[in-house]
Amino acid sequence: MAYLTLKDINKIYPNGFHAVHDFNLEIQKGEFIVFVGPSGCGKSTTLRMIAGLEDISKGDFLINGKRAKEMGPRERQIAMVFQSYALYPQMSVYDNLAYGLTLQGVDEDVIEEKVKRTAKVLGLTDYLDRLPRALSGGQRQRVAVGRAIIRKVGIFLMDEPLSNLDAKQRVTMRSEITQIHRETGATTIYVTHDQTEAMTMADRIVVMKDGYVQQIGSPYELYFNPVNVFVAGFIGEPPMNFVRTKVKDGCIDVLGTHYSLSLLNRPVLKSYEGKELVFGFRPESIVLGQQPDAITLKATVELTEMLGDNTNVYITANNEKAILKVEPHDTPEMDSEITFSIPYDSIYLFDAETEKVIK
Ligand code: ATP
Repeated sequence: MAYLTLKDINKIYPNGFHAVHDFNLEIQKGEFIVFVGPSGCGKSTTLRMIAGLEDISKGDFLINGKRAKEMGPRERQIAMVFQSYALYPQMSVYDNLAYGLTLQGVDEDVIEEKVKRTAKVLGLTDYLDRLPRALSGGQRQRVAVGRAIIRKVGIFLMDEPLSNLDAKQRVTMRSEITQIHRETGATTIYVTHDQTEAMTMADRIVVMKDGYVQQIGSPYELYFNPVNVFVAGFIGEPPMNFVRTKVKDGCIDVLGTHYSLSLLNRPVLKSYEGKELVFGFRPESIVLGQQPDAITLKATVELTEMLGDNTNVYITANNEKAILKVEPHDTPEMDSEITFSIPYDSIYLFDAETEKVIK
C-alpha cells in the first residue's frame, strides 16, 4: 500500500496545450479515489502522469513521501488497467495472467499458484485455457484486472475500465472491483466520466473540468454540498434543476411563482439585490402537494418516464423546464397540472456570475 502526494501538478503538452492546472491531492494508503469529469477535462492525463507514462510539466509528485517524478513506471510499483484491456490475443488466459510474473523471473510453481488464486477471485478458473477472443467483454475485462492484481503493487490505476461493457456487466464489474479493492487494499485511482461509477465506488471523488479540479470530497459531500453549478449538475441523476432568476425587492421568480428570499434565512442574500442568482433543486428532493417549510409551485406535466422504481416527470412553467422524480404510484397524467413543494433546506442558490454556491 502506498500514499501519494500531488503538489501543484501541471501538464503542458509539447504543442503548448495546458491540459492540467495546479492539481493538488493527498491520497491516503488504501484509498479508492475516482477522477470524474466530461471528456477532455484532463483525467487521463493526470492518471498517466501518476503512472509515469507522461512527464509532469510543473509540480511535485511523491510516492510514500519520496520524489517520484524521475522514477520509471516500473519503479513506481504501479499496475494499470486500460479501457481497451490490452490482452495478448495469441496467449491463453493463463499466460496472459502469468506474463508479468514470467518476465520478472518468478518460479513456475509460484506463478501457477498465483494464477490459480487470481483466477478464482475473478471467476476465471474455467477459462484459463481459452484465448481472449473466445471470452465475453466482461470476462476479458476480468483478465485485464487479474493481470494487474496478480503482482503485488502498492498502486492500482484504472482508466475507464468498464466503458466497453454493456450496462448490466458494468454494474456487476463495479461491485467486483470494489470487492477486489477491499481484498487487496491497494491504493486505487479510477478514471471515469460516469458519475454513477464515481458515486458507487469512491472513498473520495475528484471532479474535474477543463483541466481544473472543481471539488474533492466524499460522494456524500459532493451530493449535498457541491461548491458550484458544475459539480451540482454533474453529480446526481437526473441532474439538479437550475433556474436563473433576478433578485428584485428581496424576491425572486421561480418557474412562474414569486417568492421572498427572506424565507430562506440566508443573510448573505441581501447583497444580491438587483443581481442574478441560479436557483437549484434536485429532482428527488421535491414533495408532491403542499408542505410546510417549503416553497410550493405549480407546473404542467409535459412527459413522464416510468422507470420501475420511480418516475421522471418533465414539467414546464412560465417557459422554464425542470425534472421531478416521484414514486411510480404518484405518476401524474400527461398535460395535467401539478402542485409540488421544494423544502427550504433542499434549495441551492448560486451566484449567476461566478457560479459558486451561496451558503
Ligand atoms: P476522455 O474521457 O475523453 O479520455 P480526459 O478527461 O481523460 O478525456 P485527457 O485525455 O486527459 O482528457 O485530455 C485532456 C486534454 O488534453 C484534451 O483536451 C486533449 O485533447 C488534450 N491532449 C491529450 N493528449 C494530448 C497530446 N498528446 N497533445 C496535446 N493535447 C493533448
